[in-house]
Parts: sequence; structure tokens; C-alpha cells
Amino acid sequence: MVDGYYPYLIRPDALDVWMDPEVRNRLSWYYEVMNGYKPAKYLICKRVGINEELDLESMGEEELWNLHTGMRDEFIDVFRCIKDGDIKLSDLETPKTSFLDIKIELVYRLISPCRLCEHRCEVDRLGGRRGFCGLDSVVRVGSAFTHLGEEAPLVPSGTIFFTGCSLKCVFCQNYDISRDPFNGVVVDARKLADIASSLYRRGVRNINYVGGNPDQNLHVIIESFRYMTDNVPLLWNSNMYMSKESLELLLDLIDIWLPDFKYGNNDCAFRYSRIDRYFDVVSRNHKKVYDYGSEIIIRHLVMPNHVECCTKKVLKWIADNIPRVLVNIMGQYRPEYMVVRDSERFRDIARRPTRDEMRAAFEYADRLGIVYKPVS
Ligand code: SF4
Repeated sequence: MVDGYYPYLIRPDALDVWMDPEVRNRLSWYYEVMNGYKPAKYLICKRVGINEELDLESMGEEELWNLHTGMRDEFIDVFRCIKDGDIKLSDLETPKTSFLDIKIELVYRLISPCRLCEHRCEVDRLGGRRGFCGLDSVVRVGSAFTHLGEEAPLVPSGTIFFTGCSLKCVFCQNYDISRDPFNGVVVDARKLADIASSLYRRGVRNINYVGGNPDQNLHVIIESFRYMTDNVPLLWNSNMYMSKESLELLLDLIDIWLPDFKYGNNDCAFRYSRIDRYFDVVSRNHKKVYDYGSEIIIRHLVMPNHVECCTKKVLKWIADNIPRVLVNIMGQYRPEYMVVRDSERFRDIARRPTRDEMRAAFEYADRLGIVYKPVS
């Protein structure tokens, strides 16, 4: 471990947080994988499958999804047995065609025509076309490093920032990579696996796929798991505007989710992020991840003048629909990017949230019984 104890001197709460029974309980799978007691889900996906070499390239997409559905059932059985301690990963043989192989084949079908996110541009990205996110099939990494600023249970986090994004937020703090898909180093699946492994060797608690946004880069990310062997939790740090199909591929691979849930309605989302059906899509995806039994820390950014229409609506939806998550209620909003360049146009969000606004957010979360203090 190159980084040694240094991260925990900077962030002692990264150790203390595990004394909290709510955190231990709600992030129990992540905790077990982080400590090496259980294998990361992607490693299980490599051991589930059939002992026959299938010619996946010649199969139709529907046939592949049917195979995926069948292997999902087997994956869930195996996962439960491993979680309960009935079997170990080493008890399982490596199949000739694995669940991960099916996922890799499917994700390449999903980018040409592209349906990775709910924009569903249907452009031929493998043929060099670009959609709303500005990306063709080439994946670029803006930076990758040990991050000490994430939520306490996640620190130190092995963060990989991808370029491009499916949202166009006028206040984006990472606009240098989200709006400029070329602002990074080109990576293929092997190179990306090397980056993840080198972060792991530095003692990180997880590999954190973020951006920009990771969803548009799903093909190379999922393929990179073929070349990874490290037992490290995989973390998906997304705007959650992915398509149903992308989410199906991710559900069995991700050990802990760190999704954004910004807006409480579609109108605010369209105004500030140029996105249709935001609330419908993002709430649908959160519910799906939750119902699958995944562990989740939701990030909600409190925006000035948006406590009633967004913060309270998001928190209420969480309390009603996915109550056993942790929520980071974030006060870090600051005017950035277009809000600074055109502050007259975006006057209502051209300041930081006030103390009263943050207090209103916390008090409302308390009333709803939301667990936010250990991660906010
Ligand atoms: S990832 Fe989304 S925005 Fe980008 S091309 Fe595909 S469907 Fe369009």
C-alpha cells in the first residue's frame, strides 16, 4: 500500500464512520468486499455462465438478452450463496462463456445504434458518429487519482474521471471534461483495467467510475472488467440518466452506487440541464437499483431557491420509495460555468445556498427519517 495510513490522518472520519450501525447495516456488502471478506460482484459474473463456447457475435440482440436473463437467475443464486457464506468464489469453475462475456457483447450492440442513455440518439458510434453527449466510441480519461474528498465510507476512493456527459448542466463544476469530450487520454479496455489496478495497489477502498459521467463510456468500462482481477468494490457515480438496458448490464456488476438526484421535477431539469423526462427516468432508475438489493449513497445538491421544488420533492420521493438508502445532502453548490458567464439569465441560482436553506433541507430530512448525517 503506497499511500499507507496517510488518507486516514486527513480523513479520520473514514474510519470512525464504520462505528455507525446504520452505515454498517446499509453498506454491509460493500464493507465485506472492501475488506476482502467477499468477492466483488464483477468477479462473480466471470464465474457464472455455461460451459460451452458460444459464438456470441453471430447471435441476435434478443437472443443475447434471453441468455442474459437466464444467467441473471443463476447469478442471483450464486450471489446469495456467497453472501450467506455457503460457497466461496474459489469453489466455482470459470465457464467457457461467462455472464460477463454476454454483457460485453450486449454493450457493444448498445452503442451502435447508441441507446446507452435515455437520449437514445441511435447514432452509429462505432462508425464514428456522435450523439448528444459528443462522444463517438473512443473513450477518454480526464484524470485518475486517489480521492480524499468523497463520502467517509468511500475514502480513499480510486476515482476515474471520464469525459463527456448526457446532461448539460449550466452550473457544472467539471465542465472542462463534461463539455469537452476530447479533454483526456484515450484508453482501451486493457489500459483502463491497468489504471484501475494501479489505483487499487495504492490502497483505495473502491474503483469510482465518474466524469463527466461514466454511462456513455459503458462499453469500454465493462470490457475492462475482463482484464481486471483485483478484489475491489466497483462504484458507479452517475447522473442516473442511463437507459434501462445499460442499467440491466450494470446491476450485477456494481457493488455500491453513488448516484446524483438533483431535480424534483422535469421543468427545472430541462431549464438547467437541457434534459427531458429527468424525474421520470432518474426515479425509475433509482427504484430499479434499490429493488435489486443494491447499496446506495444518493447525492442531492441543494440549489439556491430550489428547496421547495427540488430538495423537498427529492427527499420525499426517497423516503416514500427507497427509504433504506444513505443520502448526502450537499451544501457545496456554487455558481460555475454558464451561471457565472450569464448570471442575469440564471439569476435565481447565481449564489450559494443560504444557511436557512440548508437548515430547511436538513430539518425536512429529519422529519422524513432519512439517514444523512454519516455521509453529509
Ligand atoms: S450515450 Fe446517450 S447522449 Fe451519448 S450518443 Fe448514446 S444515447 Fe446519445
